[in-house]
Amino acid sequence: MSTFSPLKEREKQIYMKGEAPFDMTCDTKSAAGSVSQRACVFCGSRVVLYPVADALHLVHGPIGCAAYTWDIRGSLSSGPELHRKSFSTDLREKQVIFGGETRLYRSLTELIDRYEPKAAFVYATCIVGIIGDDVSAVCKKVAAEKGIPVIPVHSEGFKGTKKDGYKAACDALGTLIGTGDTSAIGKISINILGEFNIGGESWIIENYYKKMGVDVVSVMTGDSRVDKIRKAHGASLNVVQCSGSMTYLAKMMEEKYGIPYIRVSYFGIEDTARALYDVAAHFSDRPDIMEKTKALVHDEVSVIHPEIKKYRAYLTGKRAAIYVGGAFKAFSLIKALKSLGMTTILAGSQTGSKEDYEILKDMCDDGTVIVDDANPLELSKYIVDKKADLFIGGVKERPVAYKMGVGFCDHNHERKIPLAGFEGMVHFAREVYGTVKSPVWGLLKNER
Ligand code: SF4
Repeated sequence: MSTFSPLKEREKQIYMKGEAPFDMTCDTKSAAGSVSQRACVFCGSRVVLYPVADALHLVHGPIGCAAYTWDIRGSLSSGPELHRKSFSTDLREKQVIFGGETRLYRSLTELIDRYEPKAAFVYATCIVGIIGDDVSAVCKKVAAEKGIPVIPVHSEGFKGTKKDGYKAACDALGTLIGTGDTSAIGKISINILGEFNIGGESWIIENYYKKMGVDVVSVMTGDSRVDKIRKAHGASLNVVQCSGSMTYLAKMMEEKYGIPYIRVSYFGIEDTARALYDVAAHFSDRPDIMEKTKALVHDEVSVIHPEIKKYRAYLTGKRAAIYVGGAFKAFSLIKALKSLGMTTILAGSQTGSKEDYEILKDMCDDGTVIVDDANPLELSKYIVDKKADLFIGGVKERPVAYKMGVGFCDHNHERKIPLAGFEGMVHFAREVYGTVKSPVWGLLKNER
């Protein structure tokens, strides 16, 4: 592996801290032939909108695109579970030649009659962009006939990066926001943006805010409901977790409704505490909220500290590679790994911005590889060259880790265990400990 060299076109997207002046190229289309770990525009929009549990999600395209099912982002719902059904218009040769609008109209009307959703999202895929179906016109017609919002999501897979899919999803959410009654919403209220209730994480976080005395108007989009999203413009503050996917919406709401936003992370002890303190500080005319927050953080940390200490004793000195969707998540992971005594030898993301990578560089030690839009060969090379004990990523990174014979921790959409908040940190430490300590890696040592 160490003899492998990255493609020439990729050289400006891979840096070893301390070796060269740092000037990361990012926010560009993936290099041809690189087999990027990124997903398409449609996937970007799908992962953001999918958790809206009482909406119909219809993929307008061939059945293959609908492989992005609920399992890709297993967001839990406390009520309806319409989002778990995977609907597709199943376009075939006939529709590709003669157009798919009739099939879209029939599918939409039939599904709305059958499932009575609160709204419908219609995802345009590659082929729809190529054949030129007027998805917006069909949605408009069905919305008028059925009396619910039918929202086109312009997410043709080829038209950009996964980030463009996030933007398409934010545009779709933007059409709902501002259409609900906000008269019952008080001043001490927030929206949580970029939190998707994987393994019940939104519930953990909402519970913290409840204890602090802060109302959560909507979560976008974990365990979300159409009616709550419609009222989101009534909140006083937007708290953005997944900045890659939701900063665009936060900026849009700031401009349109004057709602300020802050960026937070609920991963790791330090960042979870910081997030709660930052929200409490926003409501500075209510000092009781800060007092409650301090008590909450103190109580939660006291509970988890003994177990974390136990894992830290074993993990100190171990080396981790991180490859995630948005770079903001990488910041928290580096801090959380440090709190477990571990060092980060590779940090990368699919959609980081120039500013994100500057922060990442400042956080990392000399010798750490920083990478944008990586491919499996590059990841494999640095895992081996840098002697990683652990790889943290998502579904596409799992086989890379196992093939290279190192432990793996899923920090993406497919996991079933919550990693957010204080209790999530214990789950994370337990998982890292379990995978790094597994005896199976010893058996593979001679193969590496
Ligand atoms: S939208 Fe295009 S790139 Fe995305 S899954 Fe469908 S065919 Fe593939």
